[in-house]
Amino acid sequence: MISYDLQCAIGHKFEGWFGSSADFEKQKQSGFLDCPACGSTEVVKCLSAPNIGRKANQAESIAPLQGEVTTAPEPATLTNAPEIPAAMQEAIDKVAQIQAESLKESTWVGRKFADEARAIHYGETDDRVIHGETSSDEAEALAEEGIRVMPLLFPVIPPEAKN
Ligand SMILES: [Zn+2]
Repeated sequence: MISYDLQCAIGHKFEGWFGSSADFEKQKQSGFLDCPACGSTEVVKCLSAPNIGRKANQAESIAPLQGEVTTAPEPATLTNAPEIPAAMQEAIDKVAQIQAESLKESTWVGRKFADEARAIHYGETDDRVIHGETSSDEAEALAEEGIRVMPLLFPVIPPEAKN
């Protein structure tokens, strides 16, 4: 078995285990490989493996992706910066908790996320909390338009995938 540090189109990082590098390619090409946070199948290998997030494996299940709060456009921006201080980790955990709380009232909009977020921002539809998927380009475009979006810090299973 080999492990790869993987990253989705909007910058969630996660670890995947594969029988071989060919196995990785096969899973990726057949669309079985998806981001645990947003379900995106646009997954790439990180070129190097920063140590950030290793400790998260032992932590509570609420934020398995803790430490990865930035959206990274491709090519992936990487760092080998020291581990996140405990105080900051707590803050990140807190954000994950708040996100989990707001998801209770949030509507899953899947791939329509960017359109919906825009419509809400420009008052074309009801103001409400939504979550869904989008590409890194769209995520950047939204940020440039001043629309407040952020990556979720924990995996969300799309409702359609639960059946
Ligand atoms: Zn993702």
